[in-house]
Amino acid sequence: MKWLNIQSCERTGVALRRKHNVLESRTKPQLIPAFTMRIVFIGPPGAGKGTQAEKIIAQFKPAHLSTGDMLRAARDAKTEIGLEAEKYMSSGKLVPDEVVIGVIADRLKQDDCKSGYLLDGFPRTIAQAEALDKMLADAGTPLDVVLELKVPDEELFSRLSKRGRADDNPETIKERIAVYNNQTSPLLDYYGKKGLLKTIEGLGTVNEIFARIEKVLNPPKSGCGCACR
Ligand code: ADP
Repeated sequence: MKWLNIQSCERTGVALRRKHNVLESRTKPQLIPAFTMRIVFIGPPGAGKGTQAEKIIAQFKPAHLSTGDMLRAARDAKTEIGLEAEKYMSSGKLVPDEVVIGVIADRLKQDDCKSGYLLDGFPRTIAQAEALDKMLADAGTPLDVVLELKVPDEELFSRLSKRGRADDNPETIKERIAVYNNQTSPLLDYYGKKGLLKTIEGLGTVNEIFARIEKVLNPPKSGCGCACR
């Protein structure tokens, strides 16, 4: 693994962790992994989160932790968790918190998560966010940023109707959008209050949207050189 020196941001005292932000050290250098950004990615079904997640992974190389993908893999492998999850997934409902929290807790212990990860589709409820906070506080590894990909409901419905995944029939789509609005959107306020939320406008071309994400994850070097702005 590649290691870098870090120092603190002049304004906030927050440790600079990212390669492009490493300035000449005036404080005692410490060694940390080259990229340790911990990102939560939130967005309604059909917002294009999967597409943008792939681009984030390709560019910034965090581990990709998609609960949707993990649950579908468990379902296809017919594990106990997978068969339990399928009952909810097929009707657009959320899999119970304790099941998903258990899946993520195991995944976060794996080695590839040490150098940063993108949580995609988790947390989806306040209870999941609180459980995540507790896990990360215990490990001393707080989140760096929460990205919200924002797209109006009408656009979501029309995009999903064209996609054709098994859970993309009109009734399930309506249910998943309602579940997002009722159970997941309160997270925006939750993370907003913690100062972690960055909202990305999700209308435009794939590259235009990714450029907005890059701006947040990779701010131009100026001022103290930190992502504190
Ligand atoms: P979407 O296209 O709706 O964003 P995902 O691939 O993220 O789809 O998830 C598909 C389904 O898996 C959800 O509708 C839900 O049933 C289940 N699921 C995924 N992540 C979670 C989670 N964090 N909590 C509960 N259920 C989840």
